Amino acid sequence: MKYELPKLPYAYSALEPHIDAKTMEIHHSKHHQAYVDKLNAIMEKYPDLQNMPVNELIASLNTLNVSDDDRQGIRNHGGGHANHSFFWTLMGPEKETDDALIKKISDQFTSLERFKEDFSEKALGHFGSGWAWLVETSSGSLEIIALPNQDSPLTLGKEPILTIDLWEHAYYLKYQNRRKEYIANWWNTVRCI
Ligand code: MN
Repeated sequence: MKYELPKLPYAYSALEPHIDAKTMEIHHSKHHQAYVDKLNAIMEKYPDLQNMPVNELIASLNTLNVSDDDRQGIRNHGGGHANHSFFWTLMGPEKETDDALIKKISDQFTSLERFKEDFSEKALGHFGSGWAWLVETSSGSLEIIALPNQDSPLTLGKEPILTIDLWEHAYYLKYQNRRKEYIANWWNTVRCI
């Protein structure tokens, strides 16, 4: 089984004006596709692992029976595939709020607005490429973290709830170096809160 690029659940232009259609098209059809292709190239060597859903592959990254180089490749490209597949589903042209999640966030971070400030600050402060995450830990509490490159909370045993792509390819065409503006506008595309 080969890993495949998932279809976007909306048009490339659906997140305008917050995220422009050209960025979405390149991000999905070029960047994400490249992660899928490179992951597939690595996994050709490991037919016994090829049926693993990508999230399982990433969750068990540290114990996979693969070479060190390929473990790093799976971390990068498998992580890239898993992270982007999740990211697309978090956004959309219409809100579909998750009231239970909003309550849990409000309880833990004082308020939804305060959470958004904290999350935005973490995203803005992350140096270089990577992602900011809201995760649920094994004890059930929520946590805001930032991870470099295509590293996934799944590898750390944490459950992803929300994430923003901080690679320049996610925003540079429209926002150039203005990551803060990208983050502020990105909230408008988030469906669940
Ligand atoms: Mn990306």
